[in-house]
Amino acid sequence: MLNRRTFLKASAAVIPMTTAIHALDPASALAAEEVAAAAVSGQPPQLAPLPPRLAPLSLAAEPWQQKIRRVGQSNMTEHDPAVMNIEEWADYWHRADAEIVFISVTGILAFYPSKVKFHRHGKYLNGRDFFGECVTAAKNRNMRVVARMSPDLNWGDALEAHPEWAMRTKDGSVQFSGEEPRLFKTCMFSTYMDDYIPAIMREINSLYDVDCFYTNGWPPLGSLPECHCAICSKLPAASTPAYWRAFNDRVFELWEKYDTIAKEKKPDSFFFANLGGNVRGGPNLDRLGKIAAWFQADNQGRTYDDPAIWGCSLQGRVCNAIMDGKFAANVTAAYSTGSPGWRNASKSPDEAKMWLNETLASGMIPYYHFIGSEDGFCEDRRWQKVGADFFRWTAQHDAHFTTRRSIADIGVVMGQSTQLLYPGPATVRSRAYTHETTQGIYDALLRGRYAFDFVHEDRLEPERLRQYRALLLPNVAMLSDRQCRQILEYSQAGGSIMASFQTGLYDENLNERAEFGLADLLGISKAGDVIGTNGNAYYARIEAPEANPQLPLLAGFHNTNWLAGAENRMPLKPVQNPLLTVVPGFVRYPPELAYPPVPRTDVPAVVLREMGPGRTIYFAGDIERTYWLTGHGDLLQLLHNAINWITRDERILSVEGEGFIEMFCWETAPGYAVHLLNYTNPNACHGWLQSIHPLGPQIVRMKLPQNLRVQSIELLQAAQTLPFDQRGELLQFTVPRITDYEVAAITVI
Ligand SMILES: [Zn+2]
Repeated sequence: MLNRRTFLKASAAVIPMTTAIHALDPASALAAEEVAAAAVSGQPPQLAPLPPRLAPLSLAAEPWQQKIRRVGQSNMTEHDPAVMNIEEWADYWHRADAEIVFISVTGILAFYPSKVKFHRHGKYLNGRDFFGECVTAAKNRNMRVVARMSPDLNWGDALEAHPEWAMRTKDGSVQFSGEEPRLFKTCMFSTYMDDYIPAIMREINSLYDVDCFYTNGWPPLGSLPECHCAICSKLPAASTPAYWRAFNDRVFELWEKYDTIAKEKKPDSFFFANLGGNVRGGPNLDRLGKIAAWFQADNQGRTYDDPAIWGCSLQGRVCNAIMDGKFAANVTAAYSTGSPGWRNASKSPDEAKMWLNETLASGMIPYYHFIGSEDGFCEDRRWQKVGADFFRWTAQHDAHFTTRRSIADIGVVMGQSTQLLYPGPATVRSRAYTHETTQGIYDALLRGRYAFDFVHEDRLEPERLRQYRALLLPNVAMLSDRQCRQILEYSQAGGSIMASFQTGLYDENLNERAEFGLADLLGISKAGDVIGTNGNAYYARIEAPEANPQLPLLAGFHNTNWLAGAENRMPLKPVQNPLLTVVPGFVRYPPELAYPPVPRTDVPAVVLREMGPGRTIYFAGDIERTYWLTGHGDLLQLLHNAINWITRDERILSVEGEGFIEMFCWETAPGYAVHLLNYTNPNACHGWLQSIHPLGPQIVRMKLPQNLRVQSIELLQAAQTLPFDQRGELLQFTVPRITDYEVAAITVI
């Protein structure tokens, strides 16, 4: 019988067990038994201790929105005043335990008898106060109300009177909606935003009792506007760092203005806006997190461009990085996202539910959304049960879903500037480039079952980084001198670093440095410009001098002298005792010429350093992105080996078992909540989940703070209590099965 340590080594040498995706793989089943046997025999797992628990918070002192746990929206259409049964609408959300609903004021079409000029009444309104009737129906059921506006589009009469309100193309012509050419796009720098939108907000405040205001369609998500109107022509060129600063200044000027107007009637009212865009965001997420009372993630489902099932969780990690526990909700579209789309037809229940699961698991508030009460309550009613069942289930367990903080000890630096502004290396100019990098590191972290958080590039202060034993910088190309210094100080304080490719090669203005910004820290020096691939990509030759202490990086590689490299690489000056060296790329076709003319160089493919407790590792190639593009196992194994090496093979949370899962662990008021999402599915990266493929036992281990006793563990989906084993600080239990999602709610005393 293997003991646990030797077992882990042996399994790592073959393939990390957690990367096995096949639910019925007999090797995995055997491995799980071995692990269980080793654990029973008392072998200590390699666990890092959890931090001491936070002091209890007084809920009474929290703003009202912090207590909201469920958000509902039937997104109203122009036709709804003619056909919607308001009582039925309000009853649905009330019975589903929604505590707040969105009701449309809009700005494109008024849902009430607005007197604001150019606020066109919907053609089925007929003088009726539809908005007011909806507000009354919601308030009668003790639901709060968000007044929803749309400042992004307006009609020809407004354009005629105010040509300066329109976004313009380079040749000066007006930008119109792609789908409805009668609507022009409004420019966020124009007085449309200073005059027209505030007039509507003040009118609403004067007529109704709403709890807060929201703008849909502004600011833009994940990209920056390109407008050539008279005002914008004087701004820095679109998509440059200087433009982004001007854009941010304008967003936050308007945000504060609208927030002040919201508070004119009720001090606890506020303004919030359409957000999302994952790590790209739109507005600077650090600044946003400091002023926003509500992060509204308009991240409603998978799209053609973004087909991975974990898109909602990824957004949740972004919110966790910037909101510091303040309210964040993610919208789940009950209708079909993707292209072409059917905005008024339900998506598959498994798909919708997984998006809701991810919302909750990643620490956000579930928000369920369907278009048009007409269609939603008459033509297609399939969406209703999915959302209502999920909402009612969460309502039974609110205490366990109210997160206090993530316990993760690996931080992934989300370089928002890089994501928005860096166009990729000279060899690949593509907006998809940074997205592919993000997906590569994310996928690799999930398959390795690491507990990790995102950390915003503008939040690298030591107090925040102290939680993390390692920081990962997946080609974070743009870093300011200050950010480089903060990363250096983190390393000097004992933190470990993994970085790749062009990390720190550019400053915050996208000016290329003569040398990497982290050159001294990582022990690297640039020897030329980026080298791409034409045919065969480069290889990484294994140079393994005897007794090389860095050999754990090569765990699992046998019977080969080289490994796959990456699509693009930065040439480096030689280092002492390189572990992997570059075999330059060569011809792939014709096969007659597919051999390396230069079989060996002294150019490092990876550089490792060890300084006190901290370790650093730098990959010269864009390894995360190339892994995402190819799925090559060498790259995945290298990333896992690198993370294991810099974290000294210790984990703050260990979940072992078969399958492809995503996991979160939160400190909660009752104790802890371990969330396990089952992505083991043929549709994990394409299409919708059409059915669920349940997983077998998952062994969970963690090392609790001293003097903490576990009172009980409950599985919230299976609705059963679990036996557990606590010896001193070590806690172990087995989740016997995961269908789509399971939450182990740990209560401590
Ligand atoms: Zn403009």
